Amino acid sequence: MAENIIIIGGGPCGLEAAKTLRDLGYAPIILEKKQELGGHLRKWDRLFPEGVQAKQVLKELTSGLKGIEWHTSVDIETIEKSRKGYTVTLSTGVSYNSPALLLTNGFKLFPAEKKEEYGYGIYDKVITNADLEQYFAKGKDNVIKKPKTIGFVHCVGSRDEKVGNRQCSKVCCATAVKQACEMKELFPDATIYSFYMDLRLFGRNYEDMYLTAQKKYGIRYIRGRVSEVSEDIDGSLIVKAEDTLLCKPLRLKIDLLVLMTGIVPENSSASLAQQLNIELGEDGFYKPKDTILEPCMAENNGLFMAGACTGPKTIPETLSEARAAAVQIHNYLNKSWISGIL
Ligand SMILES: Cc1cc2nc3c(=O)[nH]c(=O)nc-3n(C[C@H](O)[C@H](O)[C@H](O)COP(=O)(O)OP(=O)(O)OC[C@H]3O[C@@H](n4cnc5c(N)ncnc54)[C@H](O)[C@@H]3O)c2cc1C
Ligand code: SF4
Repeated sequence: MAENIIIIGGGPCGLEAAKTLRDLGYAPIILEKKQELGGHLRKWDRLFPEGVQAKQVLKELTSGLKGIEWHTSVDIETIEKSRKGYTVTLSTGVSYNSPALLLTNGFKLFPAEKKEEYGYGIYDKVITNADLEQYFAKGKDNVIKKPKTIGFVHCVGSRDEKVGNRQCSKVCCATAVKQACEMKELFPDATIYSFYMDLRLFGRNYEDMYLTAQKKYGIRYIRGRVSEVSEDIDGSLIVKAEDTLLCKPLRLKIDLLVLMTGIVPENSSASLAQQLNIELGEDGFYKPKDTILEPCMAENNGLFMAGACTGPKTIPETLSEARAAAVQIHNYLNKSWISGIL
């Protein structure tokens, strides 16, 4: 009979790893805490760089799950390690055993209300990148009504010592460029500003996306941090910033401000790390055994990790890591069985 492999997290990473493990002859069990599989992909509308529909990718990932056991709305109570592997017990009392355990519990979005100066949760016209994706997906929103001036603020909760996150979230510059172009398509008369510190567009075709944003859509890129947001008497926003290239302070009236919230560790990562005795990096993401040679393997035998739970990643990077983790589990089990460890 095929060996069970427990996967914690049913986002893009967990789903892809499960399929690869199933194809390698195992019986994966996905344990997902939310009501539905799919992770953050469920929240996105179109994906950078080409604008592929997220629901198309989601459909691909969540179809063909034959041979894979999955449980949603689970609450993991304990995880125990024994010589034979891992036992995961849910709050319902149900337990699952597996010779190896794969963590794919992903990330959470930085809570924008923590940056009080941007007014999220205070002013209706301040929204996040995730809110805007929902608007694109649903086509309606009570706040977004023909904005004439739109601002995008990069690095919200990332590269910011004040909120305890020095790191770059990697995906939000590309998201900001994509979303600015989409807004210009919807509201061709709108003037769109993007406030950035550096633009980090590293992938294939990402530069073209940026050039299109400037040349075709006329998005105005301003190098500088927004320092303050307040509400004007007519309900529009007053945004204060500094153009650090022109060394000029700016005060702009804006109808809609979109905060590019970044990727921070999932709440459960700290408690899972404690239970499993694994190290977290200074940034709060799991620390693999070796970031170059063994990025999917923990120090502990039989414990693996992949996707955004080890740091910000795009979907293609996440899926590649999922497949790599599955192959590493297969190799680990083969070696362990041959040498009689398991
Ligand atoms: C604003 C934004 C836009 C993005 N747009 C794009 C894009 O256009 N193109 C692109 O390539 N990438 C994009 N990304 C990146 C993409 O979202 C990630 O690469 C991808 O979601 C990572 O997948 P994952 O499975 O590792 O993590 P997640 O998507 O976070 O999934 C993790 C899953 O684990 C579950 N989980 C967490 N803790 C537990 C627990 N204790 N027990 C059980 N289950 C648990 C969660 O509920 C979730 O379902 C974007 C990211 C952001 C922030
Ligand atoms: S990807 Fe861009 S917006 Fe996101 S943290 Fe890095 S520099 Fe800032």
